Amino acid sequence: MALLILAACSGTGKSTLVKGLLARHPRLRLSVSHTTRAPRPGEEDGVAYHFVTRDAFEALDAEGAFVERAEYAGNLYGTSHAEVARAERDGRDLLFEVEVVGAAALKASYPHALSCFLLPPDWATVEARLRGRGTEGEESIARRLAAGRRELARAHEFDAAVVNDDLAAALDDLSALYRAAQLSMRAQGALLDRVRAQAGAGAGAEGGR
Ligand code: 5GP
Repeated sequence: MALLILAACSGTGKSTLVKGLLARHPRLRLSVSHTTRAPRPGEEDGVAYHFVTRDAFEALDAEGAFVERAEYAGNLYGTSHAEVARAERDGRDLLFEVEVVGAAALKASYPHALSCFLLPPDWATVEARLRGRGTEGEESIARRLAAGRRELARAHEFDAAVVNDDLAAALDDLSALYRAAQLSMRAQGALLDRVRAQAGAGAGAEGGR
């Protein structure tokens, strides 16, 4: 099972890219997280997120339901073990769209996952995109810019960087990373096991996989 982790500097256009990537690759599924944030118009429970109360979130966490959890802009977000198990059962690959703290935790739990940080072409573009929406006040823009700076400060921890300048080019780059994740030895385990069985070779002397 291939796992791709995607985080970004706020204002980089992550959601457009995620939509494009999922449309291109039917085997790739977006991991549906739990969150305490209120649904935005058009967001369906169980599709965009599993929307839960803070109490329900904490109860799930106490049961050990989450691989990782993080707080972002005053709301809790978490990836459940169940979501990963469901994708594995369905023979699907998973895309985690998370903030940087969750990305690091996922990478620690699943070292064979490929993590990618989406970079803006330059900082001026981030400011222009946030202001260009025209829906947000200066305070909210300043908060998002500060979040972007914090995210950038951890970008070097990721396996790969993709620049979101030209949408088609960024989609090609992300598709290449997804392919690399599919080709990881861990994701190719079933194939390796089959050929080893045919060859009568064990996984011992050479150190297994
Ligand atoms: P939004 O509220 O805009 O949907 O998401 C806010 C931030 O939380 C985004 O950076 C998004 O990628 C991140 N996020 C969404 N789900 C999860 C999750 O399960 N875990 C973590 N750590 N971050 C998440």
